[in-house]
Amino acid sequence: SYNFSAGPGVLPSSVIQQIRKDLEQEENSHYSILEISHRSAKFEQIIAHAEKRLRELMAIPADYAVLFIQGGGSLQFEMLPLNLANQKKKIAVLDSGNFANKAAKAAEAVGKSVEIVGSSKADKYRFLPELPGDFQAEQYDYLHITTNNTIEGSTYHQDNLPQTTGHLVADMSSNILAEPYDVTKFSAIFAGAQKNLGPAGVTVAIIKKDWLAEQKITGVGPMMRYQSYIDKDSMYNTPPVFSIYALSLVLDWVSDQGGVAQMYQNNQKKAEKLYQYLDESDFYQVPVQGADRSLTNVVFTTGDADLDRKISQQADQEGIHNLAGHRSVGGFRASLYNAQPMAAVDTLIAFLERAKQEN
Ligand code: PLP
Repeated sequence: SYNFSAGPGVLPSSVIQQIRKDLEQEENSHYSILEISHRSAKFEQIIAHAEKRLRELMAIPADYAVLFIQGGGSLQFEMLPLNLANQKKKIAVLDSGNFANKAAKAAEAVGKSVEIVGSSKADKYRFLPELPGDFQAEQYDYLHITTNNTIEGSTYHQDNLPQTTGHLVADMSSNILAEPYDVTKFSAIFAGAQKNLGPAGVTVAIIKKDWLAEQKITGVGPMMRYQSYIDKDSMYNTPPVFSIYALSLVLDWVSDQGGVAQMYQNNQKKAEKLYQYLDESDFYQVPVQGADRSLTNVVFTTGDADLDRKISQQADQEGIHNLAGHRSVGGFRASLYNAQPMAAVDTLIAFLERAKQEN
């Protein structure tokens, strides 16, 4: 069976096997990964390895901190403005989907002023909003974008990032390591692990250190400050030990497969095959326009909500799980994260063709 869930997403089966093996080996020692101290030499090695691997895979320069934080992408929606919007106290957001919208509201909730500088909401997010030609970067602390819109199925790909002379901040929760992005184009990046990096419980934050150093932060406690995590190597308090261990195995897997360039090639092949099938069928439609389409979350519909629901249920019975679109948009969503094999796409296409004939 195949799991097309948008999050948590599929993990490489070799990683699951490794976790099982490690737990079995340690079963009688009471020093399994589920039980060890974050202060143990073993865990210190795991977290250092995870950081090193991520730096290699994304070519993260030394002047960026790589942090492991709990609280998911949603905590970053608050933590980022608290730490990095202290000069103008004003943030620009490109409203490309539900999560950009949520980030904007969260920044406002923690006292920052937010300006939506582009939005495709009125068009149901079928395309990506662009930065207006007269965008004045110097008026804002930063511009927030969501590189991949998990619910709507659209992406600011590496060659189509908004051009700003100011700081660019990216929520890469659903396409980190899916395609190569030039980290130096961003001043901060964050991503919850549970799509492309591992199980839920840890979030990666990549922060340009000299930008953070410029900030005068007041009224923010230590748990919500990036500096606390920098000072203590992400162990200001007890970190999510198991999640970081699993993440380190996923990063090793990506590396063994050939790195992000190889992931990108695989993801392009998977997505192209599925989009091509959907475009050629006269039964399914993809609402998102060509160049803006996501490689990791393929959103489509028959145009009939009841039929979409019926087909998703039928898929589930045939071992094709979690194909229904997000509850806010309906339709279908096939998530093709790094660990999703091409065989899953082939099985899905064969099923969709059968469903088309039968309906
Ligand atoms: N940002 C994006 C792009 C997401 O897809 C998600 C979750 O699906 C989030 C943020 C929220 O992440 P979390 O549930 O880890 O808070």
